[in-house]
Amino acid sequence: MRIFVCERCGGNDFRQEKGFRTCQYCNTSYVLTAEEMPQKLSNISLNDDIKSLLNKCKNDPTNARRYASLVLDIDPTNSEARRFLNR
Ligand SMILES: [Zn+2]
Repeated sequence: MRIFVCERCGGNDFRQEKGFRTCQYCNTSYVLTAEEMPQKLSNISLNDDIKSLLNKCKNDPTNARRYASLVLDIDPTNSEARRFLNR
């Protein structure tokens, strides 16, 4: 398994959540790449990632901005995600 280094703080200690890894030091979240996903999710497409992140925005308004910014990392022109960020 390759070592993942946080782009923001250079840390390499992460906690893994469903579909994300979060830096223990600075709390930056990264979307797991397809090959890092559990087996049954390994063929998930980027569009499905975006769709599920947008669903999280709706179901979890407290963290909506965080999910929306993850969507914009994948697709910077996503207008739905921008709506959540501009609230
Ligand atoms: Zn970090």
